[in-house]
Amino acid sequence: MIPVRDDLRVLEGYHSPQVDVDVRLNTNESPLPPPDAFRDALAAELSRVEWHRYPDRAATRLREAIADWHGVDPSMVFAANGSNEVLQTILLAYAGAGRRVATFEPTYQMHAQIARVVGSEVVEGERNADFTLDPAEMRRVVADHDPHVTFLTSPNNPTGLVEPAERVTELLDLANGLVVADEAYAQFADWTALELLDEQRPLVVTRTFSKTWSMAGVRLGYAIGPTWFVDDLEKVVLPYHLDAMKQLAGCVALRFVDDMNDRVRLIVSERERLAAAMATLPIDVTPSGANFILFRPTTIAGREVWQHLLDRSILVRDCSGWPRLNDCLRVTVGTPGENDAFLTGLKEILE
Ligand SMILES: *Cc1c(COP(=O)(O)O)cnc(C)c1O
Repeated sequence: MIPVRDDLRVLEGYHSPQVDVDVRLNTNESPLPPPDAFRDALAAELSRVEWHRYPDRAATRLREAIADWHGVDPSMVFAANGSNEVLQTILLAYAGAGRRVATFEPTYQMHAQIARVVGSEVVEGERNADFTLDPAEMRRVVADHDPHVTFLTSPNNPTGLVEPAERVTELLDLANGLVVADEAYAQFADWTALELLDEQRPLVVTRTFSKTWSMAGVRLGYAIGPTWFVDDLEKVVLPYHLDAMKQLAGCVALRFVDDMNDRVRLIVSERERLAAAMATLPIDVTPSGANFILFRPTTIAGREVWQHLLDRSILVRDCSGWPRLNDCLRVTVGTPGENDAFLTGLKEILE
């Protein structure tokens, strides 16, 4: 056996068990497939691909389409294979060995994970017991560690809480380094940091097609930020990293914005229905601006509730063993039928 890099030996990979169940509510995907018209349009486009040629290295049409949708210039858009690859590229460019990356825990585990893999030191700030972020803690982290990159996830995963706009602007005032607003779930919330973007400000926003767009299978994500930021990422990313199929899938998807918005509205109304029903049960529910809900049963251990749900062929995310999330479970909002099955199971277990 060849020894792996010393600093990687203590790391574990990303774990999200994929169990075969009837009701899968564990990975925050869309419960609905994309519209048939999307599939047909994409199939027609794919038949015209010049397969013997490398794809457009600058992903020009895709970046134009994304920019158009958000009302920004294409030179402010960087696209990659899922927003995880966007995050990795950001950390390769601005973090890496000898640099510090700050997170506020609990939050999306991949921020710290990717930061460590690229050799950075991770500084973990702490959230309050209700998972909100105290500005004093932000000041402490920035003053003590002067991070090169600081992450805020809004809505946060796995808590679902939306970060108030003041929190992001306060952090921008404090920080010398880059501030990354991970907005994988922003379309389910009522606020986005996109409105704060400015060429003079070290703020970038990351988004994904995985959650809202019914396109987790495609692996497509992007960042919007100042043009100097996009230029920096181009120095790091592999040539032709975005294949021709993916560029087309993104372009075609953006012709179906109305269908996507319909799906978002359905999920948000189902989320509110779930949250209201869950509030009548012996559980603590964290208010969510995303397509999932974090909850903590108060009468039975979280892990036990997870197992009883699984016995009913309902899979939710078991966060009960994660640091700072004792007894917590996270349920993805599914179709109305899936949500009914979850609620029925949960009631039986807790009553
Ligand atoms: C799911 C998720 C991502 C990953 O998105 P991909 O585009 O599928 O790589 C990024 N950030 C957060 C907070 C997520 O929950």
